[in-house]
Amino acid sequence: MQGETIVLYPAPGIGHIISMVELAKLIHKHHFSTTILLTTGFSDHPSIDAYIRRISAAYPTISFLRLPHVAAPTAAASFLGKCFTFVKSNVTNVATTLTQISESATIKAFVIDLFCTSAMEPASSLQIPVYYFFTSGAAVLALCCYLPTLHRQTTLSFKDMVGAELQVPGNAALKAVNMPEPMLDRNDIAYCDMLDFCTHLPEARGIIVNSFPQLEPAAVKAVAEGACFPNAERAPSVHYIGPLIAEPQQSDVATENKQCLSWLDEQPSKSVVFLCFGSRGSFSVSQMKEIANGLERSGLRFLWVVKRPTQDERIKHVVDITSEFDLASVLPSGFIERTKYRGLVVKLWAPQVEVLSHDSVGGFVSHCGWNSVLEGVIAGVPMIAWPLYAEQHVNRHVMVEQMKVAIAVEQNEEDGFVSGEEVEKRVRELMESQEIRETSLKLKHLALAAVGEFGSSTKALANLVQAWSGFSA
Ligand code: UDP
Repeated sequence: MQGETIVLYPAPGIGHIISMVELAKLIHKHHFSTTILLTTGFSDHPSIDAYIRRISAAYPTISFLRLPHVAAPTAAASFLGKCFTFVKSNVTNVATTLTQISESATIKAFVIDLFCTSAMEPASSLQIPVYYFFTSGAAVLALCCYLPTLHRQTTLSFKDMVGAELQVPGNAALKAVNMPEPMLDRNDIAYCDMLDFCTHLPEARGIIVNSFPQLEPAAVKAVAEGACFPNAERAPSVHYIGPLIAEPQQSDVATENKQCLSWLDEQPSKSVVFLCFGSRGSFSVSQMKEIANGLERSGLRFLWVVKRPTQDERIKHVVDITSEFDLASVLPSGFIERTKYRGLVVKLWAPQVEVLSHDSVGGFVSHCGWNSVLEGVIAGVPMIAWPLYAEQHVNRHVMVEQMKVAIAVEQNEEDGFVSGEEVEKRVRELMESQEIRETSLKLKHLALAAVGEFGSSTKALANLVQAWSGFSA
């Protein structure tokens, strides 16, 4: 008898691959073999190969298949624009590979990243059911599903609609200028691709989402009732299987990692504010100095992860996340010395999942990346929501208004700048608010229950796998 497999196809880059591998690990628990297709030629890094070797050794039912090399696009375009073009140029390879796999095994489902929408067509023509793995939450899913409608409502780019607010089902009103980056400029090639991806979303057999209904009730309801798909023939089935948290990775900065965890061991329970802005989030030197001043004046204990500064006040992320820089040159003079008994500044990277689950951590200042949000929720740590880029403004609304586990920081309309006084005020408020702390703990228990033995997310995945077991092409 032919074997059976689930094929998974992440977008290039370690973040996308890790998310898909975490899903494969869950599927592995149901004794299904999985094959993960990996592109070659864009966003490759030796650390990805090392990671894949580790996973292959630990999970024999997860196999990886490298697609043939495809040259990275050279045309002038944003990083995402290039990434989308690159993924599209892999479509023939994907078709060939799916055909080859089908010769020796039945592909029960093909699970793709949103950015890999171009692979939907060859899979469908082979009668393989296509599912999306949506690594953000339901609020962002609602926004994506509704993008084609928003697009039809205007001829302007959202970046030019200063002062306008967008109404998206299941979401709080969103400033048009705070739309996620690839949705901002309709003249950008990446915008056209994003619109295409979002148009195809309802055509999938199902959408697997890294969230659970009690986390984002309004968005989950809007998606379930079809409010976001006004023109789709049918709303796709949506499977909430989260929170799915990536296992901590061994990294090159192991020594610093140990240092900050042992520093936390010496701090009193729930006393430390942890500031970390994702894998790429960063600020100008003047913004870093304001943060430092605010932390110093608050008198609170803190652990702050600092990346190489940006050159432009409006740019809130760095591309090169590993290159060295001089910490003293981005902080106020004497800051490290003056705060050394109650603060620690870590360069580049800290083991966030371990830090958040440490008893000494009492608050988390976050850039609202969805993985960070889920990690904060599962640790039961109250948060300050400080969105920087991508879909983080959408997440901020959910954290503050729906989950009620975060306080919003007030940002300058124009460039997102936050004053030192505001930092001081909000970190104090965060550490003193009993109400948010209690809500965070309640949500932590709901999250743990959702992924527990009888939880909604565990059941949702079990039902999905059962449906796959029954499918025959
Ligand atoms: N992360 C970490 N240490 C850092 C910065 C980031 O471990 O110093 C991890 C964090 O735990 C999370 C991921 O990197 O799992 C960041 O993902 P998220 O979706 O929050 O934000 P993004 O980096 O995609 O903007």
